[in-house]
Amino acid sequence: MSKSFNDADRRAFAEAASAATIYREGLGTRPIGPVRGYEQKLADFAEPLANKGMPSDEVIRQLVDIGSDGLMDMVSPRFFGWVLGASHSAGTAADILSAGWAQVATMAIVTPTASAVEEVAGKWLLDILDLPRESSIGFTTGATVANATGLAAARNELLHRVGWDVEAKGLFGAPEISVVVGGEVHSSVGMSLRMIGFGADRVIVASSDSEGRMKPDSLKAVTDDIDGPLIIIAQAGSINAGAIDPMDEIADIAAEKGAWLHVDGAFGLWAHAHPEYKALAKGVDRADSWAVDGHKWLQVPYDCGFVFVKNQAAHVRAMGHSAAYLPNSATLRDPGDYVPELSRRSRGLPVWAVMKALGRDGIVDMIGRNCRLALRMADALSQEQGVCVLNDVTLNQVAVTFGPKGETGDLMTQEVLEQVQKEGFCYPSVGLWKNRQTLRISISGYATTDDDADKSVKSIINAWRKVKDQNE
Ligand SMILES: *Cc1c(COP(=O)(O)O)cnc(C)c1O
Repeated sequence: MSKSFNDADRRAFAEAASAATIYREGLGTRPIGPVRGYEQKLADFAEPLANKGMPSDEVIRQLVDIGSDGLMDMVSPRFFGWVLGASHSAGTAADILSAGWAQVATMAIVTPTASAVEEVAGKWLLDILDLPRESSIGFTTGATVANATGLAAARNELLHRVGWDVEAKGLFGAPEISVVVGGEVHSSVGMSLRMIGFGADRVIVASSDSEGRMKPDSLKAVTDDIDGPLIIIAQAGSINAGAIDPMDEIADIAAEKGAWLHVDGAFGLWAHAHPEYKALAKGVDRADSWAVDGHKWLQVPYDCGFVFVKNQAAHVRAMGHSAAYLPNSATLRDPGDYVPELSRRSRGLPVWAVMKALGRDGIVDMIGRNCRLALRMADALSQEQGVCVLNDVTLNQVAVTFGPKGETGDLMTQEVLEQVQKEGFCYPSVGLWKNRQTLRISISGYATTDDDADKSVKSIINAWRKVKDQNE
């Protein structure tokens, strides 16, 4: 046996896999929230760094011992918080292999398996999402970096067109680029813009309709007197309502203005993969770049996102690493040329594995089922007196309020949420929408069933009745 891999290491691998297995087997049978909170866990882990090390298996045993009671069951079929995927078992197992194989997936000729799997899975993604097949693809940590990457390609191309090499000269002294977003743009887009040199304050906001969709009239008005380079950022899937911007109308305006249209489709872009929901995102394929998460609706384990850019040259100009010192293989696709990271894990493996496990039908079924369950929960909840579903449930998001409009209702909603989370049968999260506190439900896990949805509704309604009684 190799000296670099001993018996303790072998046991460490087996014990980590076993602990993960036991954890997954218990999902749905225990309260979802952690038994011990952050401050307690901080105390549990606190110790000075030891001078002497210890064998790997002992390390893993300690980690499992100390760590297991501070876990949030985000992959439970009844975890409805934020918009989180349930990290599919096939992808999770592939991720274990990815760590074990330890391929730095940057250069195709150096890491053939990791690079090929990424390229193949990337083509599957373009196909199932029905985006222009010639688009280039980057596998990122999530939608935040995917948005930043797509926007960096936009920045490069728009300035390239006016004779400015932004990668060489930066933004100081560059021709100004205008950036327009919708009124319900995701907060992380501000971060993505900041990363590539666009300050949050200089972004122009086009207003949104009552569901949070960008209004084409408003987009037209705010872009009317913009002549120079222009980026329009549309959204597929708002976190409160799951609303998708009217892509065709936005694409018309973008075309008229010669603008670069980028779509933040972190979860909502998946509507375009479903025959029934596709119409909601009609025209989304007319954009120039798109960001979507792997770790949300596709169920790839954390962390994983994708960026697609129709103009491959702009993408590589913005993100290419190869130029100076790497053995760039010219005709081969080097994964590192499409993302900001240089050394990176083989992100393609878990993506390939999840897509193989679910298949095209499995992915489409899951999207349809999740949307149907969101509607089912919304319908059942709104039967109950004092409960109001604020959004038009067209996708997988439900925004719920309890009690009257105003401070009393906000407090009641907060109390209901706390009760539900404390009981831990299901786990919605908090939202703030239309100036109201909401309990937000996102159905975005592959394993959620009708029974999960129905019993979760009961748990929420019971909590509401208790809160109502206490307040009378
Ligand atoms: C989650 C989300 C993001 C950010 O994605 P991360 O994967 O968390 O970086 C951006 N936009 C929308 C609409 C989202 O839902």
